[in-house]
Amino acid sequence: MALLELENLHRHFGGVKAVDGVDLSLERGELRALIGPNGCGKSTLFNLITGALRPASGRIRFAGRDIAGLAAHHIARLGVGRKFQVTSVFDELSVADNLRVAQGQRTTLSIDALLTRLHLIERRDVPAGVLSHGERQWVEMGMVLAAHPKLLLLDEPTAGMTAPETAATVDLIRDIAATGDVTVIVIEHDVGFLARLDCAVTVMAKGKILCTGSFADVRADAEVRALYFGNAA
Ligand code: ADP
Ligand code: MG
Repeated sequence: MALLELENLHRHFGGVKAVDGVDLSLERGELRALIGPNGCGKSTLFNLITGALRPASGRIRFAGRDIAGLAAHHIARLGVGRKFQVTSVFDELSVADNLRVAQGQRTTLSIDALLTRLHLIERRDVPAGVLSHGERQWVEMGMVLAAHPKLLLLDEPTAGMTAPETAATVDLIRDIAATGDVTVIVIEHDVGFLARLDCAVTVMAKGKILCTGSFADVRADAEVRALYFGNAA
């Protein structure tokens, strides 16, 4: 059974059809990239899944439950985690303590194991305030992971990162998905990132799903090229 199933999902803002009849299905442990031109509805789709916005119509099934219209905190508790670009890291706390705060009562997860996975084990005891932009983003991702999500939503996770940080982030995302426990949807537009992520890509345009395929297939698709990659691709 799919972990996440969107069925004929709609959301508009006045006359703008931000999400206009989206069907999407993701299996447990799947890694999926979501791309599309600015304003095509990607972030709105995330907002609908997390409950930050209510759909006008359509269904959202998550882990066997209909979650459309539930409060955001309720959906988060069911296992939908989202990393925001705006950082919620506490600068004066150590890296490890930031993760402990996010972990709360869920002590089943080893902080050191998580820090190792995030390539932050050597930064364990430094105040988060001294971290680079990329390292802060990884702490942020760790804080979401510390809450044990079944579904992880990443909206442009490498924005502002250096090339090596971007490459390390791809490896981290692949590593998270490879555990098989977490389904990951990542919104990105960086072609190098997508090529390296090497997963199924879903293309959105004007609130609708245009197609889904491998990065190579999607990139070779004439309609997608015209819409998104231009002729340079
Ligand atoms: P993307 O993330 O793909 O760039 P968005 O989902 O942010 O696109 O936006 C889709 C469309 O919906 C855009 O036309 C945007 O201006 C509009 N939109 C998004 N959120 C709101 C909002 N809260 N209020 C009004 N319009 C919005
Ligand atoms: Mg967006």
